[in-house]
Amino acid sequence: MLVTRFAPSPTGRLHLGHAYSAVVGHARARASGGQFLLRIEDLDPTRSRPEFVAGIEEDLRWLGLEWDGEPIVQSRRTSHYAAALDRLKERGLVYPCFCTRADIAASLTAPHGDAGSSYPGTCRGLPDDLDRRASTPHSWRLDCARALEVSGPPGWTEDDGRRFTADSSDIGDAILARKDAPASYHLACVTDDAASGVTLVVRGADLAPSTPIQRLLQALLDLPEPAYLHHPLVTHSDGRRLAKRDLAPTLAAMRESGVDGRALADGLRANQLPPGFALSPCLDSTGA
Ligand code: GLU
Repeated sequence: MLVTRFAPSPTGRLHLGHAYSAVVGHARARASGGQFLLRIEDLDPTRSRPEFVAGIEEDLRWLGLEWDGEPIVQSRRTSHYAAALDRLKERGLVYPCFCTRADIAASLTAPHGDAGSSYPGTCRGLPDDLDRRASTPHSWRLDCARALEVSGPPGWTEDDGRRFTADSSDIGDAILARKDAPASYHLACVTDDAASGVTLVVRGADLAPSTPIQRLLQALLDLPEPAYLHHPLVTHSDGRRLAKRDLAPTLAAMRESGVDGRALADGLRANQLPPGFALSPCLDSTGA
């Protein structure tokens, strides 16, 4: 059975780009009698807010996109991420990193951001120091070189059948957990995709750079391999990307101004965008 998921972070109201992603995932699931799941990615305690979770559900209902089962809420699943991290620790595939928060902040706040490839490796190969670990806040990083030795270069298949293979420059020593955040986006994402039986990961092409590390983690953790659909991004007509910090209208604002949510979703299903917006033709599924 085909299982897709929509996995927003409740750090703001949804905009048209989210709506497109949800519509594509929902349509693929419904076309084959499969399931469409909703996952709330609320592991960033500083940016996630309960009112945005309510807003996500309200927006999806307005679009006419019903999801199957209860939403999966990541902040309630931290023991599963800790168990996955323990498995990697037992196999010597992660190491504690004591570098400052400023160095590493990007990897947790932006799923599209640093997968660890810019980390200079300062803490890799340090002798394990239990006292230091007990007294000093630290994160856990993937030992990418060891991981690649164990499982070989990760590959993935796009929904249209194209096969991609990553190399080490696509991955790096990504952070998988931090003292104040029990799992990074990557570790939580692969744990949950597997636990909920996701067979097709539908997300924007801007998240394609996350796929190599996630495929590597799946291989290391013996998790099944889903297929991927990295869809084009909704942009302003002039090609500027939508972003929460940008002035993209939220779905809530569109609703208040009288837009019909179901009609909007019908249009998006046919790749028809409201005036002023477009699907970016220049981003292909590799995110290039
Ligand atoms: N939570 C991520 C975001 O809102 C999406 C993660 C995913 O679909 O893998 O950008």
